[in-house]
Amino acid sequence: EAETNYHFLTLEEIKPLLQKRKKYTHKGSFGHVKIVAGSRGKMGAAILATKAALRSGAGLVTAHIPGCGLESMQTSTPEAMVEENSGTNILQESSVETTGYSLGIGPGIGKDHSTKNFLRALLKNCKSPAVLDADALNIIAEDESCQKLIPALSILTPHPKEFQRIAGEYKGDLEKLQKQKDLARKLNCIVVLKGAHTSICMPDGRIYFNSTGNPGMATGGSGDVLTGLIAGLLAQGYSPENTALIAVFLHGMAGDYAAAEESVESLIASDLIHQFGKVFRNLI
Ligand code: AMP
Ligand code: MG
Repeated sequence: EAETNYHFLTLEEIKPLLQKRKKYTHKGSFGHVKIVAGSRGKMGAAILATKAALRSGAGLVTAHIPGCGLESMQTSTPEAMVEENSGTNILQESSVETTGYSLGIGPGIGKDHSTKNFLRALLKNCKSPAVLDADALNIIAEDESCQKLIPALSILTPHPKEFQRIAGEYKGDLEKLQKQKDLARKLNCIVVLKGAHTSICMPDGRIYFNSTGNPGMATGGSGDVLTGLIAGLLAQGYSPENTALIAVFLHGMAGDYAAAEESVESLIASDLIHQFGKVFRNLI
């Protein structure tokens, strides 16, 4: 097997990938995101992902959430549309339109049996690349047949624990990277293994290491923000590969700005979203 190419992601590599907004555009030009997330007590995950998708520049964002989250979502995030799932406290089987949307699936959904069935039906339905995170990954880890339903070139964003559930145990960095490559190839997906130096593996085995971010980002919700950002960029027409590279880099940059303004200690996930504006201003 050919030797893997390892790359280190820098500002110089990311800048040329970003698209400038043209003057004669309307919200339809920037795609429609659907965030499929949340359950009772974990609506924050859905709200953070939804807000991040909006701040990423997506034209429209719809949140598909359990009924209990309707008011908190509409109050906290009036820019988003809400689509109520038939489940009150958790996502359960309901028909969800997937055509024409970039989906971000998983933050805060839990692993209830009915949510598993819902996810399976959703993936079966979905034909274009989606973002899978958090409990969507935990569900898939336990269900090999569900893995086959993931659309090609989807972006998976496990943290190390989620990654081990889906890829198995490993010892050391080399074995970890090998497992990451195996998973990306097997699923024909982009695997974003999050951590201090997030690694992004393409289906052909190329691996990129991110250079932005800081320990302040080790705080609840920061992964949910990344999910929304990825879905938001995907909706705007970036290729899945470029989307993953740009999103991870920008997410870390937002963390670095937030830490510089306040501190790594006080950083919370919403701070990341608040920095997206400055991140885009300095990059585009
Ligand atoms: P999650 O565990 O799903 O909330 O995701 C955590 C997010 O924060 C990921 O994007 C990680 O890459 C990032 N993160 C966590 N810890 C660190 C760290 N020590 N340095 C840089 N980024 C981190
Ligand atoms: Mg997470």
